[in-house]
Amino acid sequence: MYNLTVIPGDGIGPEVTEAALHVIDALEVNFNYTTVYAGEGCFKETGTTIPEETIDLAKQSDATLFGAVTTVPGTKSSIITLRKELELYANLRPVKSYPGIDSLYKDLDILIVRENTEGLYSGIEEYTSEGATATRIITMAASEKICRFAFNQAKNSGRTKVTAVHKANMLQKTDGIFRKEFFNVAEGFPEIESDEKYVDAAAMFLVYKPQIFNVIVTTNLFGDILSDEGAGLVGGLGLAPSANIGDKNALFEPVHGSAPDIAGAGISNPSAMILSAIMMLNYLGESYEAQKLENALLNVLNHSKVLTPDLGGSAKTMEMAEEIRSKLI
Ligand code: NAD
Repeated sequence: MYNLTVIPGDGIGPEVTEAALHVIDALEVNFNYTTVYAGEGCFKETGTTIPEETIDLAKQSDATLFGAVTTVPGTKSSIITLRKELELYANLRPVKSYPGIDSLYKDLDILIVRENTEGLYSGIEEYTSEGATATRIITMAASEKICRFAFNQAKNSGRTKVTAVHKANMLQKTDGIFRKEFFNVAEGFPEIESDEKYVDAAAMFLVYKPQIFNVIVTTNLFGDILSDEGAGLVGGLGLAPSANIGDKNALFEPVHGSAPDIAGAGISNPSAMILSAIMMLNYLGESYEAQKLENALLNVLNHSKVLTPDLGGSAKTMEMAEEIRSKLI
């Protein structure tokens, strides 16, 4: 029995969460869920986007499933607070092609490893007399930790190359440290090829020749942008999952936000949330059940017409979830 904290959030967050819970409920793994709140709706009810109770429960759980939230200007971000409070230093964002999906590339399997706690998302921004400044924090410890995590991920998943993405020619001190730590860590993994790209070139190569990448490790903002770009190569945000991993806790969430343009219509694609749940099952050591769920999802993506509109179908979110559940064998 695993204790799971569930944070549905706002917009399409609750419907993709309901869809994911509907399919994982049919697996041979027992979860004890507790649903708690964060985001815009929570702010309207309680005056905070992220109550202490939500943070405490997530800290005590075996894992947390997070839907999506709408950003409330002028308040602290609930997801960034959770990443900091739970010390979820690694954000894994796979960029994977799925058979049957109309996408730019059919052969991609890239893992983006994004540093999750510092960089330009350190939350230190202030107005000055001339405008505003944001502080970009890069520490040796966090850079070393995320690079080591990326090489270990590569090693444990049979991948052969890790590319550091940075801008050390312009950001000589901050990204100079990130780059130095990357090559120090690389020395301990002689069996894995290590190379580097400036972020502008990496953005171009991701579109032009993405097959050159296997694992990308990068800082917070660059990873956020490149992973959305990656999602665009393989079928869009409806198919992009992520994992936030720390030494004690882990949180799984789709890359997408609350999608206010389609919220309430019941047509959001549940796949990103279900793929995030698959990453959670693997994290918990339930690799057999994870594979079973992945097979069911791939079966539907490749062969079924019960797909949401972003995938070319006309199904509702829960109809697609039901179709996936029916293919679990
Ligand atoms: P978004 O990811 O919500 O939506 C971008 C586009 O992708 C929209 O056209 C949307 O309809 C589509 N889309 C996203 N998920 C989809 C799905 N599952 N199925 C079908 N289509 C999908 O990004 P946005 O519109 O820039 O942001 C909306 C809100 O979400 C903002 O308040 C933003 O700050 C917030 N946000 C939250 C998170 C998070 O909770 N982690 C992440 C990103 C953005």
